[in-house]
Amino acid sequence: MKLLRTPEVATPRAMAGTIAVFYVVGGLAGLLITWGADTRGAQEVALLTLSATAFACAVVVHRWARGWPRWAFHVAISSAVVLIAVAVVLAPDAASALVVAALMSFVVVVGYLFFSLVVGTAYLVGALVAATLALHVQGDVALPTALALQAVVVALGTVTRSLVLRASGASRDPLTDLKNRRGFDQAMQELLATGDDAPLSGALLDLDGFKAVNDTQGHAAGDLVLRQVAEAWTSELPAGAVLARHGGDEFALLLPGLAGTEALALVRGVCARHPELRLSVGVAQHVPGESAAQLMRRADQALYAAKAAGRGRCELEGGDVPQLVSDLAAAVRAGDVHVYFQPIQQLATDSVLGVEALARWNRPGVGPVPPEEFIALAERHHLIGALGEHVLRSATGQLADLYARTGRRLRLGVNVSGLELCDPGYPERVRAILAETGWPAAETVLEVTESLLDAESTEAVCALDTLRAQGIVVAIDDFGTGYSSLSRLDTLPADVLKVDSSFIATITTSPRRAQLLRSIVGLATGLGLDVVAEGVESAEQAALLDTLGCTYGQGWLYGPPAPLAEVVAGLGWSDDAQVSAPQP
Ligand code: C2E
Ligand code: CA
Ligand code: CA
Repeated sequence: MKLLRTPEVATPRAMAGTIAVFYVVGGLAGLLITWGADTRGAQEVALLTLSATAFACAVVVHRWARGWPRWAFHVAISSAVVLIAVAVVLAPDAASALVVAALMSFVVVVGYLFFSLVVGTAYLVGALVAATLALHVQGDVALPTALALQAVVVALGTVTRSLVLRASGASRDPLTDLKNRRGFDQAMQELLATGDDAPLSGALLDLDGFKAVNDTQGHAAGDLVLRQVAEAWTSELPAGAVLARHGGDEFALLLPGLAGTEALALVRGVCARHPELRLSVGVAQHVPGESAAQLMRRADQALYAAKAAGRGRCELEGGDVPQLVSDLAAAVRAGDVHVYFQPIQQLATDSVLGVEALARWNRPGVGPVPPEEFIALAERHHLIGALGEHVLRSATGQLADLYARTGRRLRLGVNVSGLELCDPGYPERVRAILAETGWPAAETVLEVTESLLDAESTEAVCALDTLRAQGIVVAIDDFGTGYSSLSRLDTLPADVLKVDSSFIATITTSPRRAQLLRSIVGLATGLGLDVVAEGVESAEQAALLDTLGCTYGQGWLYGPPAPLAEVVAGLGWSDDAQVSAPQP
C-alpha cells in the first residue's frame, strides 16, 4: 500500500508550479547552448524550436494545469522526456549533450516528488534509458561519462524519495497509516485554497464506547478497533475524500464535491454497512468564506448532537442541531427540565442526611436525554446559566416547601458547571435565588467537579471563596476521576469530598483500593472535610465504607434519583399527606 501511496505534496498546484519551472529551465538551457556552441543551419533552428516549445509548455502548465486530472501531468512529464532526448541527439558537442541529458534529473525529481514509489521508479528507468540511447545516438560522449551522469541522476532520485518520505511521515498516523491532524489540516487548506465553487463537506467520527474497550480489553484491542475503522472507511470512500485520525478515537473526513445532505447520506451508508464499528458522526457543509477551523467546529457540534440523540447516529449540522438546542432552550424556559433527588445517607445510623438534585430532561418525541449529554449541550450553547438557575430555584423551592409543611429539612446538593462558576455574577445570583425561595445557605451544598478545580481557574476559586463567605457549603465532586492531588485537599476552598463511584466500585474486590480510600478518608477528615461515597450499590460496600471511616454514602442501595414525593415516601415521611408531586 505504501508503495502505491501518493506523497502529501502532490497537490495539482504544487505539481503545476514545479513542472512549469523545470520547463523554463530546460528552455533556457537550450537557448544558452545555441548561443555558446558552434551551431548553425538546421541544427540551430531545431534547438531553438525545442527551447521555444519548452517555454510554451511552461506557460500552458503554469496557466491551466491546476485543474488537470492526474493523467494529464503524466503527458506533460513524458513530453519533457521526449523533448530532452531529442535535444540531446541534436546537441552540437559532448558538453552540450551532457548538460541537456542532465535535465532528465528534473523528470526523476518530479516523479518521486509527486507520484508513488512505483511510478517514480518507472520515470527513473524511463529517463535513464532515454538519456543513454540519446547520448549513444549523439555519439560525442564516451559511455563511462554517460554512466557517471546516470549515477548522479539515480542518487538525486534516491535522495528526493527519502526526503519525501520523511516529510510525509510528519503528517501521518503510524497506527492507522491515515493522515494525522496535521496532514488533515494541510489537505483542508489545499482544498480551500483551490477556491472553486464545488461544495465541500467535513465530518468528525467518534467511536462509541472506545474507552470501555481500552479499559476492559486492553490497548491492543483498542488499537485493533482503530485500524478496523481506518480500513473499512478507506475502502468505502470516493476518490478525493480525505480520511484522517484526528486524535484518540476521533477521525476526521473531508468530502470534496459533496453537499451536506449528500455527505450525510454517504456516511450513514458506510455506518449502516459496518454496524460492528459503532460510530457517532457529525457532518457540516462548508460555507463560502468560512475557515477550516470554523467548518470543523460545526462538524463537532453536529457530532455532539449525534451523541446527545443517543449515539450510533450521524447528524448534519444545521440539520437537527438547532432543533435540539432550541428544544432544550424551550424546556429550560418552560421549566420542563425536571429535578430528581437522590438521598445521601449517614452510614453509621442509616438515616438520611440530605439529597442531591439531578436534572432530568424528557425530550418531546424522543424520550429521556442523558444528563451528561444535555448538560454538555447547554454548556456549548450558553444555556447552562439558565439551566443551573432553574435547577437551583426548583430544588430549593421544593425543599423549602417540604420544610414549611413537615418541619423536616434535607441538606441539598446541587451540581454547578465550571462555566457558571467563572461567570462573575454567579455568587450574587445564588444569593438572590436563596433569598427568593427562603432556603438557608448553610443547607445548600454546591458540587463542583474535581477536574474543574484541577484547572486552577482563579475565577472559579474566587467564586467559591465568595460563596463560602455567604455561608454556602462547597463539595468537590467526582473525586478520584481526575489527577487527584491529595496535597491540594488542603488548599481547595471546600467542605465536603465526594469520592467517585468508579472508585467505590472496586473497594470490595481490591484491598489496595480499600486501603487507599481509608487513607483518603483519614486525610480528608483530618482536614475537616466530610466524605461522601458515591455509587454505593451493595450492603457489602456500605459495611466496608463504614469500617473505613467514611461517614456518608449515596447510591442505588439507598435509592435512585426520583421525584421528591417518592424520595420522601421512601423515608417513611409519607404519612404527611400534604407532600405533593414536584412542581417544575
Ligand atoms: P454526578 O454529580 O456525579 O451525579 C451522580 C450520578 O451518579 C447521577 O447520574 C446518578 O444517577 C448516578 N448514580 C446514583 N447512584 C448510583 C449508583 O449506585 N451507581 C452508579 N453507577 N451511579 C449512580 P446522572 O443523574 O446521570 O447525572 C450525571 C451527571 O450529570 C452528574 O454527575 C452531574 O455531573 C451532571 N448533572 C446532573 N444534573 C445537573 C445539573 O443540574 N447541573 C449540572 N451542572 N450538572 C448536572
Ligand atoms: Ca454531583
Ligand atoms: Ca459525582
